[in-house]
Amino acid sequence: MLGLMQQQSLLISSLIDFAEKHHGDSEVVSRRVEGDIHRSNWAQVARRSRQVANALDAQNVPHGARIATLAWNGYRHLELYFGVSGSGRVLHTINPRLHPEQMAWIANHAEDQVLCFDMTFLPLVQALHAHCKTVTHYVALCDADKLPADSGIPNLLSYEAWMGQQADTYAWPQLDENTACSLCYTSGTTGNPKGALYSHRSTVLHAYAAALPDSMCISARDAILPVVPMFHVNAWGIPYSAAMAGAKLVFPGPALDGKSVYELIESEGVSFAAGVPTVWQMLLGHMKPAGLKFSTLQRTVIGGSACPPAMIDAFREDYGVDVLHAWGMTEMSPLGTVCTLKNKHLGLPADAQMKLRMKQGRCIYGIDMKIVDADGRSLPHDGKAAGDLFVKGPWVIATYYKQEGGDPLLEGWFPTGDVATIDADGFMQITDRSKDVIKSGGEWISSIDVENIAMGHPAVAMAACIGMRHPKWDERPIVCVVKKPGLEVSREELIAFYEGKTAKWQIPDDVVFVDAIPLGGTGKMLKTRLREQLSHYVLPGL
Ligand code: AMP
Repeated sequence: MLGLMQQQSLLISSLIDFAEKHHGDSEVVSRRVEGDIHRSNWAQVARRSRQVANALDAQNVPHGARIATLAWNGYRHLELYFGVSGSGRVLHTINPRLHPEQMAWIANHAEDQVLCFDMTFLPLVQALHAHCKTVTHYVALCDADKLPADSGIPNLLSYEAWMGQQADTYAWPQLDENTACSLCYTSGTTGNPKGALYSHRSTVLHAYAAALPDSMCISARDAILPVVPMFHVNAWGIPYSAAMAGAKLVFPGPALDGKSVYELIESEGVSFAAGVPTVWQMLLGHMKPAGLKFSTLQRTVIGGSACPPAMIDAFREDYGVDVLHAWGMTEMSPLGTVCTLKNKHLGLPADAQMKLRMKQGRCIYGIDMKIVDADGRSLPHDGKAAGDLFVKGPWVIATYYKQEGGDPLLEGWFPTGDVATIDADGFMQITDRSKDVIKSGGEWISSIDVENIAMGHPAVAMAACIGMRHPKWDERPIVCVVKKPGLEVSREELIAFYEGKTAKWQIPDDVVFVDAIPLGGTGKMLKTRLREQLSHYVLPGL
């Protein structure tokens, strides 16, 4: 017997319709590339996203066409999120921090037809356009009078001229909910990047799950600052969840330094912020010496790479801000787990609670996880056994765009490439990327554990642990360290700092002080690059 309820596709256009109807005056505030603060709201975003849809129709851009963006977090990018996807086209957010050759490769692979870019990227697009074979129109996200007279870019229009003349009424198409809505390429630290092609259904379901109280707890009472870029997995889905909840949105534009982010949090009354650890490092680095405090920030979600316990501590103890450690991937839209305690944990002593908070967290409804050994056998959820992490769910990738790399699934499960433990309460903890795990004497050493201990030292700004070839043990860990400005620590002091905090054989053999740890386009440490830099390094005593 079938249920007798209405059949309605889950579409991105329904999110913007809802936000306009019920939260039209909720603000959307952006620090612009121009440097000023721009104020809009959900009603204006809705109107202007319909103008975007009309502009695409006027250019005869077909349904399913890929519309690329090279843009920071801002209101125009948000309008493209809804106008492009809502009208049946596919929004392809390109990461501007990639190598230009890789960007051109991605634009060609995606067969982008229109490229919308912030003026910051004008020189980049000037260098790139000759290599983008399928792009027929370029749109600079600026006012008409800001467009350079002779940019050398063919068919270049300003955004305001392109969409500003269009009608602000539009009948969103009633698409099949499985229609593609957006495309995001993986960071591709090895080989060519691969595209994750999200659907309206997967995006709306993810938006529901991401907003739940045990996820990001997004509500109409929030003022949300997504520092995580809209070019990296749709800013973790926050634009969609914020529309669903009618939350205020605050966009930082290109100014991601500690001072700018702090000022925006304070001036706009931000209650919730989201970003990768490196961004929060810059924020705390700005606040601490100046003795600054937050007046409105209540919680922050930190993910993208492991959040050092020292950072969780600093936010909670020094600033009274709750940290939600979260884990996910481009292939997962991206949220898989968020770390929130259960009722039974509330009475635990502070250090036992801290042990839980360091983990990447529990599955949000919709995601299922398992860990397996080298033979594919499921491992127990005892918080000790570490194995390859597999996931499945309605917002997990089924296959890459254009089926690149063949079928990625194993019996319906997606191999994440992460190594993790899962405890009896379902808290998952990433111990490593499978390629970064250090194999010493037949045992595994978690590079994240080694880094977290170093990061707990007051003089350490950043730490990266990598394995070095060893004739007897196969590999031994060393830790590369960036010191905090003006603070000192010696190799011997840091090695002594590990005593009692981990098993003796897990203590790194050496400390290498470096000026900087190479970071990839999404703020993750590039250990491949670090290994290249240390190609002539020899372990002590060898
Ligand atoms: P990306 O697809 O670029 O978002 O990268 C996804 C990968 O980032 C995951 O497979 C993890 O290796 C890593 N990652 C994301 N969040 C975390 C986290 N909270 N802790 C540790 N690693 C993380």
